[in-house]
Amino acid sequence: MTAKRDINIIETIDAMQKVSRGASAQGLTIGCVPTMGYLHEGHASLIRHAARNHPMVVVSIFVNPTQFGPKEDFARYPRDLERDLEIVRSAGGTHVFAPSVEEMYPEGPRSSIHVSGVTDVLEGASRPTHFDGVATVVSRLFEAMLPDVAYFGQKDYQQTLVIRQMVGASPLADVARVRIETLPTMREEDGLARSSRNIYLSADDRRDAPIIYAALKAGSDLLEGGCRDLDRVEQTMHEVLGQVPRLSLDYAVAVDAVTLRRSEALSDGSTVALLIAARLGTTRLIDNLLVTLTRP
Ligand code: AMP
Repeated sequence: MTAKRDINIIETIDAMQKVSRGASAQGLTIGCVPTMGYLHEGHASLIRHAARNHPMVVVSIFVNPTQFGPKEDFARYPRDLERDLEIVRSAGGTHVFAPSVEEMYPEGPRSSIHVSGVTDVLEGASRPTHFDGVATVVSRLFEAMLPDVAYFGQKDYQQTLVIRQMVGASPLADVARVRIETLPTMREEDGLARSSRNIYLSADDRRDAPIIYAALKAGSDLLEGGCRDLDRVEQTMHEVLGQVPRLSLDYAVAVDAVTLRRSEALSDGSTVALLIAARLGTTRLIDNLLVTLTRP
């Protein structure tokens, strides 16, 4: 363990567990924020929230190879640890857990956790092994960091459902006890959701990218105005996205926020998830909005 400014950087699971157990023994609660690094305002908002609630805030920085498909961007995923440390420090994080791939997978990726149901659709359909990689790495990170509460962004909405399900089903006491909190998506002024991958966007891509949020807003405006016809909501999102012909759409759906499938009965109080995934140039972007139905 090396001290860098006032943040402790920890690289091994053993050392991490010792620090966390020591803190817990002193009655300190631990908040954690799992990330793949190249931190931005979205991550910083999670860290700040954790720091308001816990004396110890561990930010994990680990670009997890097992959640990338063979043709995805693992090798070129942006990395900048020095810059990340500065962001963690100024957001109020106390520890960074930055293990190597060998530390996390000493025998290679030999076993994995599969979460069923919610992983069959949307991101799970487009990226077949992605959520097994996510569930497995988050479980291992929790075993190392031993947090009381873990904070995730709504930006990756389906991921939050997968993680909640993984924790709920985990046979490991240290994982099953972790409370999961989901926090709002941070956006640029024009609505584009902050993402480490935004760095890949060309000038043209960046100009066009806010259309995704515009489509989500158009869908949520319809629902908030009393429309209960989800086909019409989806059609509206498609029409807005159609304003940028160079955008290649993966999906734009309006589904039940719990099952991520169309529910027949929409009632007041139920929540609809609007979710979009689209490619601009070489960059795949995802975003979502949740709308809880009330009488208009
Ligand atoms: P990542 O480093 O992309 O794996 O993201 C780490 C965590 O930060 C995940 O819980 C993400 O959902 C969250 N996150 C990413 N982008 C945002 C954002 N724009 N606003 C809020 N949270 C975010």
